Amino acid sequence: MSIVYVDGKWLPKEQAMVSVFDHGLLYGDGVFEGIRSYGGKIFRLREHLERLYDSAKAIWLTIPIDLGEMTRLHQEGLKRSGLTDCYIRTVVTRGPGDLGLDPRKCRTPTVIIIIDRIALWPEERYTQGLTVVTASTPTPHRESLSPRVKSLNYLPHILAKIEGIVANADEVVMLDSAGVVAEGSGANLFVVRRGELYTPAVHSGILRGVTRDAVIELAQAAKVTVHESTLNRFDVYTADEVFFTGTGAEVIHARNVDGRLIGDGTVGKLTASLREKFRALVRA
Ligand code: PMP
Repeated sequence: MSIVYVDGKWLPKEQAMVSVFDHGLLYGDGVFEGIRSYGGKIFRLREHLERLYDSAKAIWLTIPIDLGEMTRLHQEGLKRSGLTDCYIRTVVTRGPGDLGLDPRKCRTPTVIIIIDRIALWPEERYTQGLTVVTASTPTPHRESLSPRVKSLNYLPHILAKIEGIVANADEVVMLDSAGVVAEGSGANLFVVRRGELYTPAVHSGILRGVTRDAVIELAQAAKVTVHESTLNRFDVYTADEVFFTGTGAEVIHARNVDGRLIGDGTVGKLTASLREKFRALVRA
């Protein structure tokens, strides 16, 4: 069953609540993680939690429990839920304050851990691929709100997703404010060209996906050259394969991007092999 840790207690989801004065709600002032467990084992929990603490540090937020205790709580929650394959949403907000912006008025950050089921793309999307369009909403400038901070401000990505929905597409390519390819609405992007893998560099202003890092490791272990480089839409349109990576989607290919068929539209060889390798890794 779904259960939620909030303000130090484990509760059924119907009873889990936060204050309307919480700055996470009022200002999107907080950070989060999306984590998955497979067969009762949490995939790369340490990497996810390190990203959570780094995100918090970057926004001058001190998480009131240490990494060891946070790790223990995640294991405890998984056990209490009785679920084996599930999605874990960890949220730390600035906490309740007054109606002004000043974060110093928020005495105690709110720590939330939601253990729930996971909603996935239907299996046929993994064979048919995603229909993708470029969104006109750019990612936030990296020196405004760094995309490396997994913050509660997801509106740019939500607006991009809405553009995809309106265009009847499954996913979008987001560009940065200079028009360079960044990522999907909730996933990282890779292209394959002549057997080599290309993906935007972390410092260009993307979220450093845990799945992205795992896929890079798997590719390198299979002796595939990986370039972290600048990508334009041209590189995406003319790629042999294009795929997205993320905790929810795992590895999923694009059938077309802005009406350009990618390869022959079916899942490419390298994408298929990396997806199999990734699926084996999470169950290892
Ligand atoms: N980029 C964005 C904007 C995301 O929200 C996500 C999902 N967390 C990703 C990339 C993929 O990251 P991960 O592989 O850690 O899920």
